[in-house]
Amino acid sequence: MSEPVNSRDAPLPDRIAEHMEKPALDDRSYRVIRLRNQLEALLIHDPEADKVSAALDVNVGSFSDGVDMPGIAHAVEHLLFMGTKKYPKENAYNQYLTSHSGHSNAYTAATSTNYYFEVAASSKTSNSKSSSLSRTLEEDASSLKENSPLYGALDRFAQFFVAPLFLEDTLDRELKAVDSENKKNLQNDTWRLHQLSKSLSNPKHPVCHFSTGNFKTLHDEPLARGVQIRDEFIQFYDKHYSANRMKLVVLGRESLNVLENWVEELFSLVPNKDLARLRWDNVSPLTENELLMQIFAKPVFEMRTLDFSFVYRDEEDMYASQPSRYLSHLIGHEGPGSILAYIKAKGWANGLSAGGSTLCPGSGTFSISIKLTEDGLKQYQEVVKTVFQYIALMRDSPPQEWIVDELKRMSEVDFRFKQKSPASRTTSSLSAIMQKPYPRNLLLSGPSLVREFDPKAIGEALSYLRADNFRLTIVSQDFPGDWDQKERWYGTEYKIEKIPKDFLADIRKAAQSTASERPAELHLPHKNEFIPNRLEVEKKEVDEPLKTPKLIRNDENVRTWFKKDDQFWVPKANVHITLRSPLAGLTPHSTVATHLYRELVQDALVEYSYDAEISGLGYSIIAHTSGLDVSVYGYNDKMSTLLEKVLVSMRDLDVREDRFNIIKERLMRSFRNWDFQQPYQQVGTYSRWLNSEKGWINEQLLSELPSITATDIKSFFPQLLRQLHIEVLAHGNLYKEDALKLTDMVESTLKPRILPPSQWPIRRSLIFPPGSNFVYERKLKDPANVNHCIEYMLYVGHDSDRDLRAKLLLTAQLTDEPVFDQLRTKQQLGYVVFSGTSINNMWAGYRILIQSEKSPEYLEGRIDAFLTDFEKTLEEMSEEEFEEHKRSVINKRLEKLKNLTSETNRFWTHIVSECFDFEKVDHDVAHLTPLTKADLVAFYKQYISPSSPARAKLAIHMLAQLTSETDVPAERKTLLEQGKANIQNALGESASQSLEVEINGSGQKNIGNGTTPVVITDVHAWKASLEVSRGARAVRDLSDFEDLGAKL
Ligand SMILES: [Zn+2]
Repeated sequence: MSEPVNSRDAPLPDRIAEHMEKPALDDRSYRVIRLRNQLEALLIHDPEADKVSAALDVNVGSFSDGVDMPGIAHAVEHLLFMGTKKYPKENAYNQYLTSHSGHSNAYTAATSTNYYFEVAASSKTSNSKSSSLSRTLEEDASSLKENSPLYGALDRFAQFFVAPLFLEDTLDRELKAVDSENKKNLQNDTWRLHQLSKSLSNPKHPVCHFSTGNFKTLHDEPLARGVQIRDEFIQFYDKHYSANRMKLVVLGRESLNVLENWVEELFSLVPNKDLARLRWDNVSPLTENELLMQIFAKPVFEMRTLDFSFVYRDEEDMYASQPSRYLSHLIGHEGPGSILAYIKAKGWANGLSAGGSTLCPGSGTFSISIKLTEDGLKQYQEVVKTVFQYIALMRDSPPQEWIVDELKRMSEVDFRFKQKSPASRTTSSLSAIMQKPYPRNLLLSGPSLVREFDPKAIGEALSYLRADNFRLTIVSQDFPGDWDQKERWYGTEYKIEKIPKDFLADIRKAAQSTASERPAELHLPHKNEFIPNRLEVEKKEVDEPLKTPKLIRNDENVRTWFKKDDQFWVPKANVHITLRSPLAGLTPHSTVATHLYRELVQDALVEYSYDAEISGLGYSIIAHTSGLDVSVYGYNDKMSTLLEKVLVSMRDLDVREDRFNIIKERLMRSFRNWDFQQPYQQVGTYSRWLNSEKGWINEQLLSELPSITATDIKSFFPQLLRQLHIEVLAHGNLYKEDALKLTDMVESTLKPRILPPSQWPIRRSLIFPPGSNFVYERKLKDPANVNHCIEYMLYVGHDSDRDLRAKLLLTAQLTDEPVFDQLRTKQQLGYVVFSGTSINNMWAGYRILIQSEKSPEYLEGRIDAFLTDFEKTLEEMSEEEFEEHKRSVINKRLEKLKNLTSETNRFWTHIVSECFDFEKVDHDVAHLTPLTKADLVAFYKQYISPSSPARAKLAIHMLAQLTSETDVPAERKTLLEQGKANIQNALGESASQSLEVEINGSGQKNIGNGTTPVVITDVHAWKASLEVSRGARAVRDLSDFEDLGAKL
């Protein structure tokens, strides 16, 4: 390699860009540099950051997988973390991150692999003010490094790209992790359908690859061919990982110069192989062999979709005009005149989305996806024709400058007021963007802003949406029913055929239709009246942002909470309204009726609210056990207009039979689909159900739904709205008068009768007595799912007990990395391994969750063993390490709020909980700070340790029907039978009449804390056997928050 002419000992890296086009509120500074090894880095100095991060994106992904080793790019992503020359311990990196409030992750995409981490900005706790650190540039370099967890993390991170070890003994384990990751996705329709479309693409284009890989493709089969797999992974790394293909982003508190020095010191060692940027030109993902086909696929979920894929171009160089945004704006429109409005009115569809994307440098796709109703599926050919008629309409009207002006205006406003996102999200996404050909000073704005109206480019873009340049995928569980093939990797049943001649002729005709041949209902959208005009923000600097909202109205009808934004300065607001009513969640019947009502209101609002939505102003209606929540959020300029429309639609809803039937059917499917989610996604519903006094689960709701009619809803919803208590939170760029006016609007539109506090629902949790050892079993309904799941929960106490809570938070922190390292990395129990606190209503506890092919009994044994071992670890832990963990959890609690919405959510959580504990974080910290190791050991021995007789446990076992390992049914049977006996035992005399089993004999195998598990068979009876906690109460007198002002 030729040396640069400049022969200084340490030449500075090239500074490529120093002035970044950035949002108005962005107080970070930026610099893009290129090291001598051609590694490009974006440095971000954020003096206020409490979390800092780095991400590195390598321009290689699954498109570069060898044909005989699918998944290799992904496997390399996993294996890269397994030890480096400088830090050979395989979990050195994660241990370091965890002890500094951090975490890491990575993903493999088609043409890039992205690695990132996040850590605390300082090794001190963030309440011990040390922000001067960022300003004293001249502070000596070594103390800067010592004080910055970022340096230590960067050092460990850089080594993955300098000298990874691919440790031999971690190989099998990590490949099992990949295998388990793949098994987790096997029953997931998104993955299945994505792969089906890939597998049925041009076999000469890398899009056809299977990107995740599994144990067979990465281990068994290559071994059988005599391949040295470790060498193969190292070769892939050597072949594709090169400094000039890497884009690094580092976000820190330190100055740009310091960050530049660190990056140069640590990343200059990454070898450069001068590899070309990957491109796939002159090969199309769909050729004449794949185009003009219709694919019928059978999903796991009950769903019906119609998808169009057009071969499109890669628009990477057209960032200024982004022609595909013009197409997706019109095709994806939901307002009057749109495709969706038309096919929805026909009763054919529930939703539509459209968009262009770059598949890889060299090719792109444009997709349209439509959610069909039952009728729509029967009429899918008509739906296809409508889409082509609309495309003809677009072609008939020359590209409209006013539409692009709207897109420009909205993209400008959104970019200008863009708020910070979490550090690692920022670095990870920017490092991926750096792979694209944006001018370096436009890295932030490039993807967001539409800058130019380019009618020629729009015309060209439109020319791809031709009747000879697409294919269709029709997804349904029962149509056409004669699927005759199976996709290789996921087993998805499908059928593929040429689009029939007469259908194709109709499509061509539609694509060439004239205005008179098209339905008159189709037309271009009207001017969007929701684009905000008033964007002023009155900025009043304050020393310390207010931590609580003020209660500005508090009477029998209404409580209104308000805070004018004092730290984010965006022309936005969030308004949340609870309409409190015991009726909403009283029974499964009323719960379902409330759901249906909510869906009907939303359905009626689709066309109206779409313009608002694309202008950054949205609304939502959520049904929950104590009522309905109505929210509006976004630019505050036209917020009251939208809120009024939503409230009026709620009050005046016209329950139409045809829409009711469509929505009922959709809700029915979503209830039925619930059972086909991943086991780990289901288990939380059961745990919340089992620790709350009240609440319903899916199957109870499902059994009510069929009997509910449109007439029921017509009479139900006026009842629901008849008597309410209204609670409002208005937060953001609003004045007190605005908040009061919005409140008046709710009151005067709905005009509810007073719901006195004596009728408000009380939330209570169940109390698990010391020594309890409960097991609840569910059989999973998906016959093809191979994964079991366990949620292992230990009850600790009432969430309002601040001391217990602090100990619980610290326990979760201490066990976080070890649980992952032991149960996932070392024992490879499954891809989904989670541990942490378990807090629901008033119930506070600790939990470990595992999804695995291993049986729940086995998993429970592993968890017990882990918790037993960890007791020793804790006892032997040095004071220093203990303090580090304490600092870490305190830093996490004190993490800064990133944007307006995160602050609104914090307030709303504390309002909805009815504890109004707005300063909970500070209380947590105050209770964490004095904790000693001895305190924690004592806590652990009482509440967590399997040997504790006082420990209270509930384990939820989700059992897969299909097991891939030879299970131990006999053992399970015994456990079940013992359990049945014990529940009867626990329930008292009447039940014990039927007992035929000996009581807790000495010969029995002890599980856990020595008590025999009680299997919960009758949930109602079991709940009745437990005591309930006291309900939620305000932690302070609400009058403390009042700021009612002078009465007029
Ligand atoms: Zn993975």
